[in-house]
Amino acid sequence: MQRPNGFADALATFEDAKFVIAGVPFDRTTSFRPGARFGPDSIRQHSWNFEAYDLETGIDLSEVPIHDLGNVEEFGFAKDMVDSVREEIRPIYAADKIPIVLGGDHACSPPCVESYPTGKSLGVLYLDAHMDFRSSYLGDARSHACSSRRIVERVGAENVVVLGVRSVSKEEVDDNKSIGMASITAHEVFRDGIESSVRKALSLLKTERIYVSLDIDVIDPAYAGGTGTPEPFGLTPRDVKQVLGAVAPRLAGFDIMEVSPHYDSGNTSLLAARLAREAIVRCVAAGRAH
Ligand code: MN
Ligand code: MN
Repeated sequence: MQRPNGFADALATFEDAKFVIAGVPFDRTTSFRPGARFGPDSIRQHSWNFEAYDLETGIDLSEVPIHDLGNVEEFGFAKDMVDSVREEIRPIYAADKIPIVLGGDHACSPPCVESYPTGKSLGVLYLDAHMDFRSSYLGDARSHACSSRRIVERVGAENVVVLGVRSVSKEEVDDNKSIGMASITAHEVFRDGIESSVRKALSLLKTERIYVSLDIDVIDPAYAGGTGTPEPFGLTPRDVKQVLGAVAPRLAGFDIMEVSPHYDSGNTSLLAARLAREAIVRCVAAGRAH
């Protein structure tokens, strides 16, 4: 019954599923070292490492209705990827399911947010070492360096919080003076503790539902070095676990981007797979699936 090529325990049909996994093997906007296109399948592979049973919640993932759609089909330019991802993700929200999207570089996140039903407000918790707030980068407004900016344009600056940031250009800081996207830096998380930082982030987001975009580089390279633009002084895996637990009752969708598996021995893929499973388990525990 198990499909070794799919995400572990994703045994349900699309129709029956509450959670739908989709891969986006796209990394054409990567600015430093490439390879995130190999992320989705590597995360799937490593997901088979784990027991279905979750010790903390008593939830058995083999009993949770999860479907794996596979990967979004081949694409060329970023704008083509954006169209494909929107088309793939839209039916997931329309059927009242929670998408869990595996990237790919961070350019793959804005279309996941943009495919949320229009007219419904959505908050976005953006976990990233970088601010990704450039209006355009190397001539491409759909670059991964512009993703939070595109998301702000879709949902409004008041509905986005960047958490864990520690790398930003002066241009991004200056642009944000008039736009006002909120951020909580990695240094503030270290100073105030993750619990209080998450509480602050979630109190800033007033929408009923929240989309969580996880750029894996928000986590310190000591734990997650398998990524395209690693940045020291990051969050711990346990910090991100805490975030997922706190946001679960309001979760609309979740993505994990920028896993670039060839830069380590599988640690980062393993962590990403575990965090995807954590998000699902926490949603079920919060009563978001039956
Ligand atoms: Mn990013
Ligand atoms: Mn980043």
